[in-house]
Amino acid sequence: MRFTTDSSKKQNQYLDELTGINNQQGFFESMTKMLDTHPELSFCLIYWNIRKFRTTNDLFGWQAGDKILIHWANTLRDILQNETAVYGRLDHDNFVCCVTEEFLQNSDWTKLGEISYFAGDTEYHFYSCCGLYKITDRSTPFSVMIDKARAAMETIKNNYVTLYAWYDDSMWNALLEEQRMNTEFKTAIAEKQFKVYYQPICRSSDGLITSAEALVRWQHPTKGMISPGVFIPLFEKNGFISILDRYVWDEVCTMQQSRLDQGLATVPVSVNVSRVEFYNPALCDDIRNIVKSHNISPDLLKIEITESAYADNPVQVQEAVKKLHTYGFSVLMDDFGSGYSSLNMLKDLPIDVLKIDMRFLDKLNENQKASIILESVIRLAKFMKLSVVSEGVETQKEWEYLRSVECDAVQGYFFYRPMPQEDYIALLDKAAANSTNLLFHSSEETDDSILDVFNQTNTMESVLFYSMLGGMGLLEVCNGEIELIRVNNGYYETVYNKLPRERNILNQQFLEPERSFLLEQCRIAKEDARIQQFQLHHRREDDTYVWLSVKLRHLGGSSLRSLFLFAVDNIEDLKKAEHERYVSNYSTVLLKLFDRVYHLDYSADTVELLHTNGEDFIKPQVQYSSAEFFQHLAAVTSPQDLAKLELVKDKTSLDEILAEENTNCLSVHYLLSSGDTANDTTAYFFKAELPDGGNRYLCCVKKNT
Ligand code: C2E
Ligand code: MG
Ligand code: MG
Repeated sequence: MRFTTDSSKKQNQYLDELTGINNQQGFFESMTKMLDTHPELSFCLIYWNIRKFRTTNDLFGWQAGDKILIHWANTLRDILQNETAVYGRLDHDNFVCCVTEEFLQNSDWTKLGEISYFAGDTEYHFYSCCGLYKITDRSTPFSVMIDKARAAMETIKNNYVTLYAWYDDSMWNALLEEQRMNTEFKTAIAEKQFKVYYQPICRSSDGLITSAEALVRWQHPTKGMISPGVFIPLFEKNGFISILDRYVWDEVCTMQQSRLDQGLATVPVSVNVSRVEFYNPALCDDIRNIVKSHNISPDLLKIEITESAYADNPVQVQEAVKKLHTYGFSVLMDDFGSGYSSLNMLKDLPIDVLKIDMRFLDKLNENQKASIILESVIRLAKFMKLSVVSEGVETQKEWEYLRSVECDAVQGYFFYRPMPQEDYIALLDKAAANSTNLLFHSSEETDDSILDVFNQTNTMESVLFYSMLGGMGLLEVCNGEIELIRVNNGYYETVYNKLPRERNILNQQFLEPERSFLLEQCRIAKEDARIQQFQLHHRREDDTYVWLSVKLRHLGGSSLRSLFLFAVDNIEDLKKAEHERYVSNYSTVLLKLFDRVYHLDYSADTVELLHTNGEDFIKPQVQYSSAEFFQHLAAVTSPQDLAKLELVKDKTSLDEILAEENTNCLSVHYLLSSGDTANDTTAYFFKAELPDGGNRYLCCVKKNT
């Protein structure tokens, strides 16, 4: 049975407005009743959280998120309504239920861990995880029971293979410790208990300091020095990280400004940006404003973005990187190779420096494959004009190895440990006095060796180029003409979906409007000296088209000729999905005005029912052949409109009539009978223009009232 607080007027106050199940107050009331009614039973509390719900909201929008929450609540209700149980929604995507121990043992409750949901024809899967708390002492406040179940859930939240965890006391202590740190945070900031440490980064070839990384520590008044690994995950959870990160950036800028004000030497310092910052649209402006407020150049602050941030939020990270570039900041990809990255990602993200995760070096000692991978990554990075820093260098041997594979820079205990600001400043002063120990980053020069890669057939680099990297190539702009100089096999696979018999693509002509568009992109890439990224509707020689995502980097050249390296990705599927989504949204809107929406596909000779308001007299088919569809329609069409219907059957005549009438819509009247009544109905035929320049023929039906 369900213990609710139904009936009374107070009802609303106990119900969650969105899902209609108990809210927290309703849950507590119902739970009190249930426990009082059943002193003989043993109960457990379950705290549920929907995994990645935030991402779902970002991807599909709040309304879709709401539907999922409602669906989730309904599923919970279906499973529990005939049980001795209560349930409710606490907030956001957090649900709670109280069930008997017997129910947990004998029912299939774990199916709540994966729920499928249909939106239109598409099935989505949602995963949840939960923490369980066995109620041993009924006098414990319910809020504490919930906190304990939540503490158990938190331990598996990021572990995708485990559905549930039982609470134990160690989790409670961890939670208390967390809460303690959270309450201490504000004082810690106010009292400047957070200290910025600096770890120099050195040029591989000679060990000169070229920059440094800022790393935060908490100098706690009673607990001593706490390392960021302990408190950062915590502050990422409750959002304090954004205050802490800004505090660190500000401290670094203060240090840089003071060096400059005193006319002392300094090097750029890179700061870490937490992965959760990418949910904040003000991120890049905040960084810029801090730098501006200290009146220093953006060259002196570099931005480290951890690889996992990109895995979580590829689009936001890409946009942030672009924006940071326009503000003049260099961007480093931190922890590269720590688990989420693929080489492919490199071509999608216009970063400047690759920081190789220190676990790579650990693996080097274990197996040979690691060194092959590392060397390939370094080559690839060079190829893309990225510089490479290796973290965690602890021995002379590691340094020598990295130098031998031409890794540009090194950071690690072998050179310097992270040190307090005073020590760092003293080191800078000493290095500057002995001017051979300090170096500002040299600016990028054009490297002719890149051309060798294309001209030699059997160097390691050219093997890499031709066989490994996805679609890439080299193009030249000369006298307003674009010429493809080299492309690799991946280019053919990307653009033509197959490997070429012979490489005959190179005399390809670029026609308008593609030519002008490409020339403009080349101009920007050259002017900005950055990777230029854009989408291209590329025309193949056989006059078919393909959607490509292109990245372009200017390599060099003379005043007459410019050479560019480019990488391409096939984004047909993406475009198709975009297209489908647009049509679906479009027809959903149309359905507010009409009763049914059909798509007339003249090339496939089919008519597809996109949407219906459900009030159909006859169960509609999802797909008809065109002949069948028009036959049905002709049978009921008013005699005076039969001629119009004839026009609609053929795409060319429909196009003509639509252009002629200049109304973009042709209407056909017919009578739809149901039982004794006949409803006067109109079918409107028109052409919907799509954002990518394409179009769709739609037939929208409306019963006239
Ligand atoms: P990270 O950005 O990858 O920083 C490198 C970490 O490696 C630092 O740990 C550094 O002390 C350590 N390290 C450097 N050289 C060596 C070495 O030779 N051997 C070994 N075993 N370790 C070395 P730390 O300072 O404990 O920082 C850990 C992580 O905390 C950082 O990883 C970064 O992700 C994060 N972090 C540090 N400061 C901040 C901050 O101000 N904001 C944010 N959001 N994250 C920070
Ligand atoms: Mg870092
Ligand atoms: Mg790192």
